[in-house]
Amino acid sequence: MSMNVEPLRKILELERDKGYVDSAVIGGLDKFLRRWAGQAIESITNPQLLNHFHRLRLVDSNYASLTKQQRKDWVNEVLAFLSEAEQVEAGKGEVKPPKESVVPPVASRRSLGRQKVVAPQSINSPITALKGVSTNLATKFNRLGVKTIRDLLYFFPHRHLDYSQRKYISQLTEGEEQTIVANVWQANETMLGGRRSTEAIVGDETGNVRVVWFNNPYLAKKLPTNTRVVLSGRVGLFGGRHVFESPEWELLEDGELIHTGRLVPLYPLTQGLRPRQVRKLMKQVIDQWAWQVEDFLPPEVRQRCNLFELPQAIAQAHYPQDEAAKGGARLRLAFGELFLLQLGVLGRKRDWQESQPGTPFTVSTPVLDTFLRSLPFELTAAQRKVLGELLADLAKPRPMSRLLQGEVGSGKTVVATAALLVAAASGYQGAFMAPTEILAEQHFTNVCEFLSRTGHQLAGEDNLCSYSGLLSHPLTVALLIGDLSQVRKQEIQQRIMSGDIDIIIGTHALIQKEVEFRCLGLAVVDEQHRFGVSQRSALRQKGFNPHVLVMTATPIPRTLALTLYGDLDLSVIDQLPPGRQVVKTKWLKPSQRDSAYAFVRRQVGEGRQAFIICPLVEESEAIEAKAAVAEYERLSREVFPELRLGLIHGRMSAVEKDEVMHRFRSGELGILVSTPVVEVGIDVPNATVMLVESADRFGLSQLHQFRGRVGRGREQSYCMLLSQTPSEIGRERLDLIEKIHDGFQLAEEDLRLRGPGEFFGTRQSGLPDLRMAKLSDVALLELARSEAIRLFEQDPGLEKPEHHLLARELARVWQHGEAEWS
Ligand code: ADP
Ligand code: MG
Repeated sequence: MSMNVEPLRKILELERDKGYVDSAVIGGLDKFLRRWAGQAIESITNPQLLNHFHRLRLVDSNYASLTKQQRKDWVNEVLAFLSEAEQVEAGKGEVKPPKESVVPPVASRRSLGRQKVVAPQSINSPITALKGVSTNLATKFNRLGVKTIRDLLYFFPHRHLDYSQRKYISQLTEGEEQTIVANVWQANETMLGGRRSTEAIVGDETGNVRVVWFNNPYLAKKLPTNTRVVLSGRVGLFGGRHVFESPEWELLEDGELIHTGRLVPLYPLTQGLRPRQVRKLMKQVIDQWAWQVEDFLPPEVRQRCNLFELPQAIAQAHYPQDEAAKGGARLRLAFGELFLLQLGVLGRKRDWQESQPGTPFTVSTPVLDTFLRSLPFELTAAQRKVLGELLADLAKPRPMSRLLQGEVGSGKTVVATAALLVAAASGYQGAFMAPTEILAEQHFTNVCEFLSRTGHQLAGEDNLCSYSGLLSHPLTVALLIGDLSQVRKQEIQQRIMSGDIDIIIGTHALIQKEVEFRCLGLAVVDEQHRFGVSQRSALRQKGFNPHVLVMTATPIPRTLALTLYGDLDLSVIDQLPPGRQVVKTKWLKPSQRDSAYAFVRRQVGEGRQAFIICPLVEESEAIEAKAAVAEYERLSREVFPELRLGLIHGRMSAVEKDEVMHRFRSGELGILVSTPVVEVGIDVPNATVMLVESADRFGLSQLHQFRGRVGRGREQSYCMLLSQTPSEIGRERLDLIEKIHDGFQLAEEDLRLRGPGEFFGTRQSGLPDLRMAKLSDVALLELARSEAIRLFEQDPGLEKPEHHLLARELARVWQHGEAEWS
């Protein structure tokens, strides 16, 4: 838009010709000028020109009251201005952005230090001890988990708005976040969209701009004419003109900027906390308190890793000087969190391994060889490697503490069986624990199956088998589960206590009080995510310090594994036995539901079996069970009236579930309708179809687990995924699961899509809070781990004076959520 020069020039020339009697326009020149200037100003982009414009006071001219001579001079000056404007607009350069920043430097550490501390509070005082924090305000903060001054210092913004980009008004562009420093010409209360609001006109040397604050009439009074304000926010377009829409604002004379003109923190808010109020309080607290935080990182570590000191990091995390400082702060704080985390998990491992001596096994090669030779298959290279790692651990006087990860079907059970055999050959007992009774039975069947190929079966009962020819004594395996009669249970417990039973298979109930082992040497725990540290400790409290092998089919990316299970060594079976088929996976449109059912019908007709997973119901297990019953009835009556269907849901008793599982496994049922509970490792080789309803609602790892229920036998297997209207992320998941068949790769994708909290369930992990650290930050995690290992080597008990602060911080951070940690 260019300035409309011509009409004014004509009028002024006419005025000159008439002898400066203010007769050129009806109503007088002043009135005309005001209207003209009001429009012209918005089109002036050149700073000199704008200066000139302001100097002439065209907006509030007072021509009528001038003397004739004054009128003559003034008219000439305005005419000159108009010529100048024409020239400028005919093609003069752009206006350069301002060189110096309006942002005064953030208080340096020294200036922080100079602040006087008047109050006698400590950093652990409740926030009500702070000036300006009422109990009412404190309650609101409490809801966010902020109770003490320290909590407040660690109450980090979830992000910053970059308001550091100062612009001249003439440079404002639509849609971007920008900052201007301007003069208030006028600010009034006004009605906008039927609500009392504030409207202002502000200007700098390059132009004026309208500013509106919707629904906020009180602001008008805080912005008197001629005050200097800093405005940060988005600029919109209204009637072809730029308008600042509800920008953050503050008066320049207030001193250090906290809402505008810089990287401005955005805090997580709860109802009743106002952003400006929180920012103001935070600034005050940081200035007064941040420098009093003691840095727990040993200076040596800090220097070696080139990290900020803690007070500086805290201050810069809230009010960073610039992006680089913000990055430095995050790095330092994240490192601190990961370092404490690693010290915690490594300390735990040390306790586990060194508080009580373990039991070194003498690995009997002939027994092991006989066992391996008798298997109907060769171990895969990955299985051999992992077995080697286990055997090396088992021979050591330090108890093994190892996590074995392997895809569904990768053959973990046979490796575990070999380890249990080694324990028995060394004269120790082994326990094999599963999360459910069904799985315990399955393990019992599998272990017995493997052993029966090697040894001669002496006794074969429902829950007890004995083999000769392997060890110097009969090798005895027992299954201990809830359904046994009380008498039978006591008998087995008796035999466990006497040492007569070598391998005991059961649920986690095995480690409950009534089971006493004679000499427990190895505990194998299947499905880690249901077996926490407290259970492991319970084992130890039975007076044993057994080797522990934890197995999981949930692939966990290495970074997460190091964090969540940092106290365990890691083994991975990253290879499936040869000849395993890929489960054909297809995401189906709702319109293909009938053909999906037809496919199920055909497969079952050919003697195969199918799983149908009901939709996830998050509200409650009871509602989920009800929905599953309804779906089961619908499928039985309307879709597959000619087939036999079974139903499993979380509200059924263990006995009922077992019964249905048995009927399915024996082939009596063709279709098993289930709530998502069957996710856990059921092995039904004849099942070839997995149909998942509302598949988009499940995580990738979970879908992969479902898919792993089929494809366990020789027949080609299929996974069909139904979803009504998947969200964008749901669609992405379905695309990925169709394409990717590798569990680890899927886990990485899952982690990327969902973030670690959801991926693993933060509640369950019970880890100390990670506020700054991201588990996806592999390099930093590895650095923190190697520094933690290094520190433990120098000072295992953290007893050196330079580590006292660290020991205290470690205790503080790890005091919560211990029990559930696993
Ligand atoms: P996981 O517990 O890891 O899911 P399993 O131990 O149940 O897997 O093994 C799945 C199936 O593969 C079992 O039937 C097992 O006998 C078989 N299996 C294990 N290792 C091999 C191998 N090296 N070659 C062929 N089949 C194997
Ligand atoms: Mg298994």
